[in-house]
Amino acid sequence: MSPSVSETLTGTPTQNAHALAAELSARRLKRLAQEATKAPWKPRRIYASGLSSCDRQMVYAFTAWDQKEPFAPEGVAAMQDGQMEEQIIVRELSSDGFPPVETQVSMDDDRLWLTGKIDGKIMWNGRKVPFEIKRLKPFAFDRVKTFEDLKANPFLMKYLRQLTAYLYLHNEEAGLFILSDGCGKRAYLVVELDMAFAETEVVQRCERVKAALNRIERLSASVGGQWPGDQYLPDRIPYDSKVCGFCSWKTTCLPQVNFGEGAHMAEPELAEKLKRHLELKPLVAEADRLKQEIKAVVEGKEITLAGGYVVTGKQVTVTPKPPTTPPKPYSFWKWEVQALETPETVKAQ
Ligand code: SF4
Repeated sequence: MSPSVSETLTGTPTQNAHALAAELSARRLKRLAQEATKAPWKPRRIYASGLSSCDRQMVYAFTAWDQKEPFAPEGVAAMQDGQMEEQIIVRELSSDGFPPVETQVSMDDDRLWLTGKIDGKIMWNGRKVPFEIKRLKPFAFDRVKTFEDLKANPFLMKYLRQLTAYLYLHNEEAGLFILSDGCGKRAYLVVELDMAFAETEVVQRCERVKAALNRIERLSASVGGQWPGDQYLPDRIPYDSKVCGFCSWKTTCLPQVNFGEGAHMAEPELAEKLKRHLELKPLVAEADRLKQEIKAVVEGKEITLAGGYVVTGKQVTVTPKPPTTPPKPYSFWKWEVQALETPETVKAQ
Protein backbone atom coordinates (compact mmCIF):
# COMPACT_ATOMS: atom_id res chain seq x y z
CA MET A 1 0.00 0.00 0.00
CA SER A 2 2.87 2.42 0.59
CA PRO A 3 4.02 4.61 -2.35
CA SER A 4 6.96 3.29 -4.35
CA VAL A 5 9.31 4.90 -6.86
CA SER A 6 8.56 2.06 -9.22
CA GLU A 7 4.83 2.97 -9.39
CA THR A 8 3.68 4.21 -12.79
CA LEU A 9 3.22 7.99 -13.09
CA THR A 10 -0.34 8.89 -14.15
CA GLY A 11 -2.00 12.25 -14.80
CA THR A 12 -0.63 15.73 -14.19
CA PRO A 13 1.10 16.72 -10.93
CA THR A 14 -2.09 18.60 -9.91
CA GLN A 15 -4.30 15.59 -10.63
CA ASN A 16 -1.87 13.48 -8.69
CA ALA A 17 -2.02 15.85 -5.68
CA HIS A 18 -5.84 15.76 -5.78
CA ALA A 19 -5.81 11.98 -5.89
CA LEU A 20 -3.39 11.88 -2.96
CA ALA A 21 -5.57 14.26 -0.92
CA ALA A 22 -8.65 12.09 -1.51
CA GLU A 23 -6.74 8.94 -0.60
CA LEU A 24 -5.30 10.47 2.58
CA SER A 25 -8.79 11.43 3.72
CA ALA A 26 -10.34 8.07 2.78
CA ARG A 27 -7.68 5.99 4.53
CA ARG A 28 -7.86 8.10 7.68
CA LEU A 29 -11.64 7.79 7.81
CA LYS A 30 -11.43 4.05 7.23
CA ARG A 31 -8.93 3.65 10.08
CA LEU A 32 -11.03 5.79 12.43
CA ALA A 33 -14.19 3.88 11.50
CA GLN A 34 -12.42 0.61 12.40
CA GLU A 35 -11.21 2.05 15.70
CA ALA A 36 -14.73 3.37 16.43
CA THR A 37 -16.26 -0.10 16.25
CA LYS A 38 -14.23 -1.64 19.07
CA ALA A 39 -16.43 -3.94 21.17
CA PRO A 40 -17.82 -2.32 24.35
CA TRP A 41 -16.79 -3.74 27.70
CA LYS A 42 -18.19 -3.78 31.22
CA PRO A 43 -16.28 -1.51 33.63
CA ARG A 44 -14.83 -3.02 36.79
CA ARG A 45 -15.97 -0.15 39.02
CA ILE A 46 -17.28 3.39 38.72
CA TYR A 47 -14.68 5.41 36.82
CA ALA A 48 -13.88 8.84 38.22
CA SER A 49 -13.96 10.15 34.65
CA GLY A 50 -17.53 8.83 34.36
CA LEU A 51 -18.97 10.70 37.36
CA SER A 52 -21.88 12.07 35.40
CA SER A 53 -24.69 14.48 36.29
CA CYS A 54 -27.03 11.54 35.64
CA ASP A 55 -27.11 8.50 37.97
CA ARG A 56 -29.07 6.57 35.38
CA GLN A 57 -26.28 7.00 32.83
CA MET A 58 -23.77 5.71 35.39
CA VAL A 59 -25.97 2.66 36.09
CA TYR A 60 -26.36 1.97 32.36
CA ALA A 61 -22.56 1.71 32.19
CA PHE A 62 -22.95 -1.58 34.10
CA THR A 63 -26.43 -2.84 33.22
CA ALA A 64 -26.38 -1.87 29.53
CA TRP A 65 -22.65 -1.81 28.83
CA ASP A 66 -23.22 -3.83 25.64
CA GLN A 67 -25.68 -1.19 24.37
CA LYS A 68 -23.18 1.64 24.66
CA GLU A 69 -23.22 3.59 21.42
CA PRO A 70 -19.92 3.48 19.55
CA PHE A 71 -18.17 6.81 19.03
CA ALA A 72 -18.38 8.37 15.59
CA PRO A 73 -15.06 8.40 13.68
CA GLU A 74 -14.87 12.16 14.36
CA GLY A 75 -15.27 11.44 18.09
CA VAL A 76 -12.44 8.90 17.99
CA ALA A 77 -10.25 11.48 16.20
CA ALA A 78 -11.07 14.09 18.86
CA MET A 79 -10.12 11.67 21.66
CA GLN A 80 -6.85 10.80 19.95
CA ASP A 81 -6.10 14.49 19.54
CA GLY A 82 -6.79 14.97 23.25
CA GLN A 83 -4.35 12.19 24.14
CA MET A 84 -1.68 13.73 21.93
CA GLU A 85 -2.29 17.10 23.55
CA GLU A 86 -1.71 15.52 26.96
CA GLN A 87 1.66 14.19 25.80
CA ILE A 88 2.57 17.62 24.41
CA ILE A 89 1.74 19.31 27.72
CA VAL A 90 3.68 16.76 29.76
CA ARG A 91 6.72 17.38 27.50
CA GLU A 92 6.16 21.12 27.83
CA LEU A 93 6.10 20.87 31.64
CA SER A 94 9.40 18.99 31.59
CA SER A 95 10.98 21.53 29.22
CA ASP A 96 9.92 24.35 31.54
CA GLY A 97 11.54 22.62 34.52
CA PHE A 98 8.50 20.87 36.02
CA PRO A 99 8.93 17.19 35.16
CA PRO A 100 5.72 15.48 36.35
CA VAL A 101 6.04 12.79 39.02
CA GLU A 102 3.67 9.96 39.93
CA THR A 103 2.04 10.06 36.49
CA GLN A 104 -1.05 7.94 35.86
CA VAL A 105 -1.14 6.63 39.44
CA SER A 106 -4.34 4.69 40.14
CA MET A 107 -6.86 5.32 42.85
CA ASP A 108 -9.17 2.49 43.85
CA ASP A 109 -11.61 2.98 46.68
CA ASP A 110 -13.53 0.01 48.07
CA ARG A 111 -16.05 2.05 50.03
CA LEU A 112 -17.13 4.25 47.09
CA TRP A 113 -16.47 1.46 44.55
CA LEU A 114 -14.61 4.12 42.59
CA THR A 115 -11.52 3.83 40.43
CA GLY A 116 -9.47 6.08 38.16
CA LYS A 117 -6.15 7.76 37.52
CA ILE A 118 -4.67 11.18 37.93
CA ASP A 119 -2.49 12.57 35.15
CA GLY A 120 0.35 13.36 37.54
CA LYS A 121 1.83 15.64 40.18
CA ILE A 122 4.28 18.54 40.04
CA MET A 123 6.78 19.18 42.84
CA TRP A 124 6.60 22.80 43.99
CA ASN A 125 7.97 24.26 47.23
CA GLY A 126 8.35 20.82 48.74
CA ARG A 127 4.76 19.75 47.95
CA LYS A 128 3.41 17.50 45.23
CA VAL A 129 0.53 19.25 43.46
CA PRO A 130 -1.83 16.88 41.60
CA PHE A 131 -2.85 17.94 38.10
CA GLU A 132 -5.26 16.85 35.43
CA ILE A 133 -4.86 17.90 31.77
CA LYS A 134 -7.97 18.68 29.74
CA ARG A 135 -8.27 19.95 26.21
CA LEU A 136 -11.37 22.08 25.62
CA LYS A 137 -12.87 23.40 22.43
CA PRO A 138 -11.60 26.96 21.87
CA PHE A 139 -14.98 28.61 22.60
CA ALA A 140 -15.34 26.59 25.83
CA PHE A 141 -11.75 27.33 26.81
CA ASP A 142 -12.35 31.08 26.49
CA ARG A 143 -15.30 30.84 28.89
CA VAL A 144 -13.54 28.93 31.66
CA LYS A 145 -11.65 31.23 33.96
CA THR A 146 -12.67 30.02 37.43
CA PHE A 147 -13.84 27.04 39.43
CA GLU A 148 -17.38 28.51 39.23
CA ASP A 149 -17.22 28.54 35.41
CA LEU A 150 -16.53 24.79 35.47
CA LYS A 151 -19.44 24.24 37.84
CA ALA A 152 -21.79 26.20 35.60
CA ASN A 153 -21.33 23.81 32.68
CA PRO A 154 -22.96 20.35 33.17
CA PHE A 155 -20.46 18.82 30.76
CA LEU A 156 -17.36 20.30 32.41
CA MET A 157 -18.72 19.38 35.85
CA LYS A 158 -17.61 15.84 35.02
CA TYR A 159 -14.01 17.03 35.00
CA LEU A 160 -14.51 18.79 38.30
CA ARG A 161 -15.97 15.66 39.91
CA GLN A 162 -13.03 13.64 38.60
CA LEU A 163 -10.36 15.89 40.10
CA THR A 164 -12.39 16.37 43.28
CA ALA A 165 -12.66 12.58 43.68
CA TYR A 166 -8.91 12.35 43.49
CA LEU A 167 -8.32 15.17 45.98
CA TYR A 168 -10.92 13.74 48.36
CA LEU A 169 -9.62 10.17 48.30
CA HIS A 170 -5.98 11.23 48.58
CA ASN A 171 -6.61 13.84 51.23
CA GLU A 172 -5.14 16.63 49.11
CA GLU A 173 -6.20 20.21 49.75
CA ALA A 174 -5.72 21.55 46.21
CA GLY A 175 -4.94 20.50 42.68
CA LEU A 176 -4.61 21.99 39.22
CA PHE A 177 -6.40 21.75 35.93
CA ILE A 178 -4.03 22.41 33.05
CA LEU A 179 -6.37 23.43 30.26
CA SER A 180 -5.58 23.71 26.58
CA ASP A 181 -7.66 25.00 23.66
CA GLY A 182 -5.85 22.72 21.22
CA CYS A 183 -4.47 25.83 19.47
CA GLY A 184 -1.60 26.69 21.79
CA LYS A 185 -3.40 28.50 24.62
CA ARG A 186 -3.03 27.24 28.19
CA ALA A 187 -4.81 28.01 31.46
CA TYR A 188 -3.77 26.80 34.90
CA LEU A 189 -6.80 26.60 37.16
CA VAL A 190 -6.48 25.92 40.87
CA VAL A 191 -9.14 23.63 42.33
CA GLU A 192 -9.44 23.61 46.12
CA LEU A 193 -11.04 20.58 47.71
CA ASP A 194 -14.61 21.63 48.43
CA MET A 195 -15.87 19.11 50.98
CA ALA A 196 -19.56 19.91 50.43
CA PHE A 197 -19.12 19.43 46.67
CA ALA A 198 -17.18 16.19 47.24
CA GLU A 199 -19.89 14.89 49.54
CA THR A 200 -22.83 15.59 47.21
CA GLU A 201 -21.19 15.16 43.81
CA VAL A 202 -18.81 12.28 44.47
CA VAL A 203 -19.61 10.38 47.68
CA GLN A 204 -23.42 10.45 47.59
CA ARG A 205 -23.47 9.92 43.83
CA CYS A 206 -21.32 6.79 44.07
CA GLU A 207 -23.40 5.52 46.99
CA ARG A 208 -26.67 5.99 45.07
CA VAL A 209 -25.33 4.29 41.94
CA LYS A 210 -23.91 1.33 43.88
CA ALA A 211 -27.17 0.96 45.84
CA ALA A 212 -29.15 0.95 42.56
CA LEU A 213 -26.83 -1.69 41.09
CA ASN A 214 -27.09 -3.85 44.21
CA ARG A 215 -30.89 -3.60 44.14
CA ILE A 216 -31.06 -4.52 40.44
CA GLU A 217 -28.71 -7.46 41.00
CA ARG A 218 -30.81 -8.73 43.93
CA LEU A 219 -34.07 -8.41 42.01
CA SER A 220 -32.55 -9.99 38.93
CA ALA A 221 -31.39 -12.98 40.99
CA SER A 222 -34.93 -13.38 42.35
CA VAL A 223 -36.32 -13.68 38.78
CA GLY A 224 -33.76 -16.18 37.51
CA GLY A 225 -31.23 -13.67 36.14
CA GLN A 226 -33.82 -11.79 34.06
CA TRP A 227 -33.89 -7.99 33.78
CA PRO A 228 -36.19 -6.90 36.65
CA GLY A 229 -37.50 -3.86 34.78
CA ASP A 230 -36.53 -0.30 33.91
CA GLN A 231 -38.50 1.00 36.91
CA TYR A 232 -35.53 0.02 39.11
CA LEU A 233 -33.15 2.28 37.22
CA PRO A 234 -32.51 5.72 38.70
CA ASP A 235 -34.82 8.41 37.31
CA ARG A 236 -33.88 10.26 34.18
CA ILE A 237 -32.60 13.78 34.62
CA PRO A 238 -34.63 16.54 32.94
CA TYR A 239 -33.38 16.63 29.35
CA ASP A 240 -30.12 18.53 29.09
CA SER A 241 -28.43 18.70 25.70
CA LYS A 242 -24.99 18.99 27.33
CA VAL A 243 -25.52 15.72 29.22
CA CYS A 244 -28.15 13.68 27.35
CA GLY A 245 -26.88 14.94 23.98
CA PHE A 246 -23.49 13.32 24.64
CA CYS A 247 -24.82 10.29 26.56
CA SER A 248 -23.66 6.95 25.17
CA TRP A 249 -27.00 5.38 26.19
CA LYS A 250 -29.38 8.00 24.85
CA THR A 251 -30.96 5.61 22.34
CA THR A 252 -31.50 3.07 25.14
CA CYS A 253 -32.92 5.71 27.45
CA LEU A 254 -34.63 8.36 25.35
CA PRO A 255 -37.15 6.43 23.23
CA GLN A 256 -39.35 6.18 26.33
CA VAL A 257 -38.65 9.61 27.71
CA ASN A 258 -41.44 12.19 28.03
CA PHE A 259 -39.18 15.02 29.31
CA GLY A 260 -41.54 15.63 32.23
CA GLU A 261 -44.63 17.75 32.43
CA GLY A 262 -42.77 20.96 31.65
CA ALA A 263 -42.21 20.00 28.00
CA HIS A 264 -44.23 21.94 25.45
CA MET A 265 -45.64 19.60 22.80
CA ALA A 266 -45.56 21.56 19.55
CA GLU A 267 -47.42 20.82 16.33
CA PRO A 268 -45.64 18.36 13.97
CA GLU A 269 -44.89 21.19 11.52
CA LEU A 270 -42.24 22.47 13.91
CA ALA A 271 -40.34 19.17 13.60
CA GLU A 272 -40.18 19.65 9.83
CA LYS A 273 -38.85 23.16 10.27
CA LEU A 274 -36.26 21.97 12.76
CA LYS A 275 -35.16 19.15 10.44
CA ARG A 276 -34.81 21.50 7.49
CA HIS A 277 -33.02 24.01 9.68
CA LEU A 278 -30.35 21.43 10.48
CA GLU A 279 -29.98 20.47 6.82
CA LEU A 280 -29.59 24.07 5.68
CA LYS A 281 -27.30 25.42 8.35
CA PRO A 282 -24.48 26.08 5.86
CA LEU A 283 -26.88 28.06 3.68
CA VAL A 284 -27.04 31.02 5.98
CA ALA A 285 -29.86 33.00 4.42
CA GLU A 286 -32.48 30.24 4.49
CA ALA A 287 -31.29 28.95 7.85
CA ASP A 288 -31.70 32.40 9.37
CA ARG A 289 -35.28 32.74 8.12
CA LEU A 290 -36.28 29.37 9.56
CA LYS A 291 -34.54 30.29 12.78
CA GLN A 292 -36.91 33.21 13.19
CA GLU A 293 -39.94 30.99 12.52
CA ILE A 294 -38.77 28.45 15.07
CA LYS A 295 -38.01 31.18 17.54
CA ALA A 296 -41.60 32.40 17.28
CA VAL A 297 -42.74 29.01 18.60
CA VAL A 298 -40.05 28.14 21.16
CA GLU A 299 -39.36 31.53 22.73
CA GLY A 300 -40.13 31.52 26.45
CA LYS A 301 -40.35 27.71 26.67
CA GLU A 302 -37.55 25.80 28.38
CA ILE A 303 -38.21 22.54 26.52
CA THR A 304 -40.16 22.09 23.30
CA LEU A 305 -40.59 18.69 21.70
CA ALA A 306 -41.53 18.17 18.08
CA GLY A 307 -41.25 14.72 16.57
CA GLY A 308 -37.65 13.63 16.85
CA TYR A 309 -36.37 17.03 17.94
CA VAL A 310 -36.00 18.79 21.22
CA VAL A 311 -35.48 22.51 21.69
CA THR A 312 -34.10 23.72 25.01
CA GLY A 313 -33.97 27.39 25.87
CA LYS A 314 -33.25 29.92 28.56
CA GLN A 315 -33.21 33.66 29.05
CA VAL A 316 -29.69 35.07 29.08
CA THR A 317 -28.44 38.58 29.74
CA VAL A 318 -25.26 39.91 28.18
CA THR A 319 -23.30 42.96 29.21
CA PRO A 320 -21.27 44.25 26.27
CA LYS A 321 -17.58 44.81 26.85
CA PRO A 322 -15.91 48.18 26.27
CA PRO A 323 -15.63 50.22 24.04
CA THR A 324 -19.47 50.34 24.45
CA THR A 325 -19.94 53.07 27.08
CA PRO A 326 -21.74 52.79 29.32
CA PRO A 327 -22.11 48.99 29.01
CA LYS A 328 -25.83 48.38 28.52
CA PRO A 329 -26.99 44.80 29.33
CA TYR A 330 -29.48 43.19 26.96
CA SER A 331 -31.48 39.96 27.23
CA PHE A 332 -32.58 37.39 24.69
CA TRP A 333 -34.04 33.90 24.58
CA LYS A 334 -31.17 31.53 23.78
CA TRP A 335 -32.21 28.17 22.33
CA GLU A 336 -30.59 25.00 21.00
CA VAL A 337 -32.11 22.36 18.77
CA GLN A 338 -30.99 18.77 18.66
CA ALA A 339 -32.07 15.84 16.53
CA LEU A 340 -32.42 13.06 19.08
CA GLU A 341 -30.91 10.50 16.71
CA THR A 342 -27.67 12.43 16.11
CA PRO A 343 -25.31 14.43 18.31
CA GLU A 344 -25.56 17.52 16.06
CA THR A 345 -26.63 20.57 17.99
CA VAL A 346 -27.51 23.94 16.57
CA LYS A 347 -27.36 26.98 18.81
CA ALA A 348 -29.38 30.07 18.16
CA GLN A 349 -30.69 33.18 19.78
S1 SF4 B 1 -30.14 10.13 28.02
FE1 SF4 B 1 -30.07 11.65 29.67
S2 SF4 B 1 -31.47 10.86 31.23
FE2 SF4 B 1 -31.00 9.15 29.86
S3 SF4 B 1 -29.26 8.12 30.81
FE3 SF4 B 1 -28.43 9.55 29.33
S4 SF4 B 1 -28.02 11.38 30.50
FE4 SF4 B 1 -29.41 10.16 31.73
